[in-house]
This record gives sequence, C-alpha cells and structure tokens, in this order.
Amino acid sequence: MTSQEIRNQFLEFFKSKGHQIVPSAPLVIKNDPTLMFTNAGMNQFKDYFLGNKNPQFKRIADTQKCLRVSGKHNDLEEVGHDTYHHTMFEMLGNWSFGDYFKKEALEWAWELLTKVYKLPKDRLYVSVFEGDKGDNLPADEEAKNIWKTMIPEDRILYGNKKDNFWEMGDTGPCGPCSEIHIDLRPQEEVDKVSGKELVNNDHPQVVEIWNNVFIQFNRQWTSPSAPTELQQFELNYKGNKTEKTYSIERTKKHLQLTTLKELPAKHVDTGMGFERLCMAIQKKQSNYDTDVFQPLIQFIATASGKRYGEDKWADIAMRVISDHIRAISFTIADGQLPSNNKAGYVIRRILRRAVRYGYTYLGFKEPFLYRIVPVLANQFAQVFPELKAQEEFVAKVVKEEEAAFLRTLDNGLRRIEQIKSEVKNGVIDGKTVFELYDTFGFPLDLTALIARENSLQIDEKGFAVEMEKQKERSRAASSSETGDWIEVVDEDEVQFVGYDELETYSRILRYREV
Ligand code: ATP
Ligand code: MG
Ligand code: MG
Ligand code: MG
Repeated sequence: MTSQEIRNQFLEFFKSKGHQIVPSAPLVIKNDPTLMFTNAGMNQFKDYFLGNKNPQFKRIADTQKCLRVSGKHNDLEEVGHDTYHHTMFEMLGNWSFGDYFKKEALEWAWELLTKVYKLPKDRLYVSVFEGDKGDNLPADEEAKNIWKTMIPEDRILYGNKKDNFWEMGDTGPCGPCSEIHIDLRPQEEVDKVSGKELVNNDHPQVVEIWNNVFIQFNRQWTSPSAPTELQQFELNYKGNKTEKTYSIERTKKHLQLTTLKELPAKHVDTGMGFERLCMAIQKKQSNYDTDVFQPLIQFIATASGKRYGEDKWADIAMRVISDHIRAISFTIADGQLPSNNKAGYVIRRILRRAVRYGYTYLGFKEPFLYRIVPVLANQFAQVFPELKAQEEFVAKVVKEEEAAFLRTLDNGLRRIEQIKSEVKNGVIDGKTVFELYDTFGFPLDLTALIARENSLQIDEKGFAVEMEKQKERSRAASSSETGDWIEVVDEDEVQFVGYDELETYSRILRYREV
C-alpha cells in the first residue's frame, strides 16, 4: 500500500463512520500567545474543547501538518539520529465533540488497524492510564474493559501520567489517554524479549503509533485568587529548590488550588503518526525507508554522488535534510519566512542545521536544499497543494537563505577547528559561542551540535550574558539618537534567546492574564 493510499484509507474509514473531513490547519499559528506552530491535530479545535466556540460538526477527521521543534514537544535533537521522530510530520486524527466516546473510538481504531490495514494483532500493544493517587486521578478501567473485549489482557498495559494523561495547562479540559504501540522487530528478537518490556522505552522498532485522548474532566481554580497564589508559589520556590522537589511541591500546591469535575459533554481527540503508520504497513524498519521519504533521500543521494546505507554520517545527513526540507518548505508555504526572531528564527535554525549537515557530510558547498522543493511539492500536490502553488517562491527563499549562510559557514567551521585546539576543560566559552553566532551566523543549537560531535560542551549561560550585553549596546545606541524621533528598537530583534524560554515566558504571561 502506498502512503497516499494509507492516508486516503484513513480518511475514507472515518468518513464512513460519519466524520466530516476537514483540511489541515496551517503549520504557523498567528493568534495564540501560547503556541507558535501547530504541534498536534487538536490545536485547531482548541476552542471547541474550551467551550469558546460550537463545532460545526460533531465528528471530524483530517491529516494535520505538525511541527515539534520547541516548547513542550521538542524532537529536534532526535531527528535523523533516530528513525521515527521528525520535525514536521502528519498527524492523522479523528474527533468527537460531545458525541461518541471511548467504546466507539477504541473499537474503530482496532478495526482500522487490524481489518483495513491488516496489521498483525500479535504485534500490537495498548496502554491505559494507571491513575495517579497524588493527583487524585482515577485509573481508566473503562478503557481497559473495552480493550478486553478485543485484545488478550496481557497486551493491555498500564501507563503513567506522563504518557497516559493529557492536559492543556494548569486548568482546562483534560483526561486519560490510551496509546497503541507496534512491535516491528524480527521474530527471533521477539522470542527473546517480549515487546511488552520495550513499550515507551525509546526502542526504534517498538513505537507508539496512535494516541486516543478522552477529554472527560475539566480542571478549575478553586477561587479567583488561586492562579495568583500558584504564581506566588512559583516565584518563591523556583531556583531555591532542586528541580525535583520543586516539581513535587508545585504539583501539591496545584492540586490544592484546583478541583476536577466531570465534563457534561465528553470529547475524543486522537492522533496517529502517519509516517510511523506507513513504516508499519510497508513493513520497514525506519520511517525513512517508506515511500514518504525515499523519493527525497534518493534525490539527495544522487545529487551528492553517495548511496544511502553505506556510511553512518552521510546517512544521518540525508535523513536530516529530507526531514528538515519538509519542515522548512511547508512552514514558508504557510506564511512564515525565515528571520531573526521568534518563529522565523526557528525556521532559520532548522535550515542552517540542514545546510551544515549537507556541507560537512555530503559535500554540498553550493545552495542545494532549494532543489528538493519541487520534488516535495509534486509528492504532496494532492494533499497539501499550498506547496505546489508556491513552489517557485519557496525555492527562491530557501536558496537565498542557503546562499547567505554558506557565505560565512566555511569561515565559521574553520574558526571552530581553531577553537577546538584552544579549548580548555572541554567547554567552549560563552564569548566564543557568541562570536560564532554574531559573526558567522551559527545558531546556538548548531554550535552545541557541532560541539557534541567533537565531545565538547558549550557555555550556554556565558552565551546568554554576551547576548544581554549586545542588547544593552543596541539600547544605548538607539537612545542616544538625537534626530527628530527616537527609533524604537524591536526588542525581539536583539533579545532572542531560544524559543523554549520564550514559550515559558508566554506561559507565565498567561498566568498573569488569568
Ligand atoms: P513519542 O512518545 O514517540 O515522542 P508522543 O507521545 O510525544 O510520541 P503524541 O503527542 O501522543 O506523541 O502524538 C500522537 C502521535 O503522533 C504519536 O503516537 C506518534 O505516532 C506521532 N508522533 C509524535 N511525535 C512525532 C514526531 N516527532 N515525528 C513523527 N511522529 C510523531
Ligand atoms: Mg514525544
Ligand atoms: Mg509517547
Ligand atoms: Mg503519546
């Protein structure tokens, strides 16, 4: 079955169960201070779950372009090194807004996987929430009992809050989830070690494919002053306690300040990794061996004169590039140009990582990524026509970005060689990391990556200090203006310190607004 057929069958299946098929939302989110990029299928339906809007349809299904490169979900460092985490991926999903619940969701999931896709039942495992006493959350026996009508009990595992409970934030809709995992190892290995032991253990062939979230509770503040109290607690404790103690105590406090209520209308929110599903159905060992990635990998291999599967680092580079070009192209097509701040800088960082992998391991000394854009655009012409429609524009932007970075990359890499010979205690100091950033355009995470490849570390704190100094310098420069007006410096232009921090920052802001 081709990936295109796999996607269509998913949508057809849920259409036959009364779902409205809707298009993917854009990857770039413009009007939500808590999120820059779509990172799950449910994002576009957030207002339905929060009760701010009424859904037009009670049952919906789609394939959603997702990007996980920042904040709570950041898979960037895994990409290319493992075989099943991508920056940009498709999440197939079906939703019920106050309509069907656990029984239908789980029975349909099982029907689709085992009858339509014909995945082997003896290679599938499911998990249900084990409950959490500390957090007053019950185990999901309801889901377990439903699974018991379909699967032998020893394939139903209990999972903890981290993997099997979903919540949006400190308050709001939340509930248990039930995951489906598949064991794709050869039979000899399965006979030696049961797949059960490897579920949720970062094993490349025992992977999570589908998550079914049951939004059945609503967590609310006990009083209007509760959010401020929690905020006060955070201000008092953060930094004064170890991360672990802080987190336990914060959970306790959070629990005191909120109550959990059953929602009158319960919802289903599911997400299945499309590329992982293709790997399972096409009987491959890696997402990159499916027809989703092979056209891109083969194109890169031919252009570099190397073959995929012969050299560890060339292979990693081909995987990284085939992954990153998807993230870059679709994000630009959805309206986010690479730039020096916020979402634009996230894209620039991804692009520069890809350029450097190609330069170092595949010998691409001239712009190259832009040549993959047409391959990608054709591949996705039916499902995401927005890329085909803007193919030339996207390629042009990518090419210019590549050219700009390639102008300083070579000197930057030479500078790193020099640094390697001078470095003390295995740590590249903050000033030098800043120099690489400022003079050669090396994003912090790229320097960290190159440092790791050379068994070195970088001084991130020192880098932040240098960044702060630069900010001060540009503030001073702008306030000494004596013209007719004082130009206001866009803080973001100089203040970017990595998206993770920014995202935390916006969460704090959100508390303040409550
Ligand atoms: P994992 O534990 O493998 O990181 P997750 O629990 O973070 O996955 P969910 O948030 O439950 O993932 O998302 C739903 C589904 O999306 C997962 O079951 C998985 O199949 C897929 N998925 C999640 N992250 C990625 C990724 N970075 N690349 C490809 N597919 C992914
Ligand atoms: Mg994850
Ligand atoms: Mg998981
Ligand atoms: Mg999950």
